[in-house]
Amino acid sequence: MDFSLSKAAQGRIAMARMAAEMLMRPISRQYDEDEHTDPWDFFNTMWEASKANAESTSLGGSKKSGDKKVSENTLLACVQIEELAWGDAGLYLSIPNPGLGGAAVQAVGTPEQKQRFLGSFYAGKPKWGAMAITEPHFGSDSKQVATTAVREGDEWVLNGTKIFCTAGHRALDESDGFVVVWATLDRSKGRAAIKSFIVPAGTPGATVSRLEDKMGIRASDTVTITLDNARIPADNILGTAEIVEKGSSAGFGGVMATFDSTRPIVAASGIGVARAALEVLKEALAEQGITIRYEVGAHEQTVLEREVMNMEAQLQAARLLTWKACNMMDRGQRNSREASMAKAKAGTVVTRVTQKCVELAGPLGYSRKLMLEKWMRDAKITDIYEGTQQINQLIIARSILGYSSAELN
Ligand SMILES: Cc1cc2nc3c(=O)[nH]c(=O)nc-3n(C[C@H](O)[C@H](O)[C@H](O)COP(=O)(O)OP(=O)(O)OC[C@H]3O[C@@H](n4cnc5c(N)ncnc54)[C@H](O)[C@@H]3O)c2cc1C
Repeated sequence: MDFSLSKAAQGRIAMARMAAEMLMRPISRQYDEDEHTDPWDFFNTMWEASKANAESTSLGGSKKSGDKKVSENTLLACVQIEELAWGDAGLYLSIPNPGLGGAAVQAVGTPEQKQRFLGSFYAGKPKWGAMAITEPHFGSDSKQVATTAVREGDEWVLNGTKIFCTAGHRALDESDGFVVVWATLDRSKGRAAIKSFIVPAGTPGATVSRLEDKMGIRASDTVTITLDNARIPADNILGTAEIVEKGSSAGFGGVMATFDSTRPIVAASGIGVARAALEVLKEALAEQGITIRYEVGAHEQTVLEREVMNMEAQLQAARLLTWKACNMMDRGQRNSREASMAKAKAGTVVTRVTQKCVELAGPLGYSRKLMLEKWMRDAKITDIYEGTQQINQLIIARSILGYSSAELN
């Protein structure tokens, strides 16, 4: 499997690294402390810098492989995101971007919907997008969606409450963005009746009713959205309104396909955070005169050296799984299993690595003098959103053993 990227892609990775180092790291602690302050200077600078990136991504980045052109969009996005999350995972999530909502529109939207909701972004207008699935009574068990969508004439009327929606405030209140909301047409019909609807900013009845105070990724906004008779045009539904059988791309499975591209991205952002922690740990050790001797045999290594090498190996394993999931997507291959493997592996590795880095740095690791304690807080989300560690393990097991979600849950 060839993970090399074109020259143009490498240039964009270098830009991301520069932005992470020069724009994100210097303000990282400040926005960790001021959770609900919008870093507008950062947004504007990043937006200008990323415009060219958005335009070329919308056209489809590719590299030559033999005499064929192969897409490199997903792999490139992952490598860039590792760099940005190395700068600050919360700030990276805050960069004006259609986000998870945009990924859903890309995955199952019609050409007209893609143009209507993503066209202005690709034409150079900053906006945020979000996806609202979770509700007060469920997270993992998405068939429990209780938010309702009822057709009235040319409109859908949505009612319900969505919690923990990333970028929801910026998508609804700060730009002409949108939130993709999962709602049911008929609760008695289970998964098949769950559809997603694009709720544009400014929709009467769709309001942000709470901003969360979080442990990590604090520069990212996470909100509760109340839908109180929120009316949207009939053609804002993603896929068809028909309650279709399992396996159809217009049904629940189609919406779930969004995660095939976004789970590797979550993995990559966690890897960026853990890499930052490992680098700073090694610098802190070097200041104490301790360097890692890669060249000596196992019998001569100290416990500390072994811990560091093991963490580096685990991080590289997570990265390679992530890149594999991306490469498959770029080649048009189904990658649901690999996307879950990447996220599950990365979730385990990055939470362990960042925690271990705090531990190995001693009191300095626990103090706020370094960023290690922050990165430990930031890394944990890798294991929670877009399918928890346990849910991704279930998906992998089902896929290997050939069980349905009803048979293994
Ligand atoms: C910062 C943040 C941002 C978020 N952003 C979004 C967003 O943008 N949009 C959105 O819709 N949601 C978002 N979420 C919600 C997130 O997706 C859910 O928290 C997640 O799906 C888990 O749901 P839950 O918290 O209700 O946990 P539960 O589903 O109640 O699970 C609790 C624990 O039980 C485990 N568990 C559950 N079911 C099983 C099972 N069958 N087998 C084994 N173990 C199981 C879980 O792995 C977990 O450890 C966000 C959450 C956070 C913290």
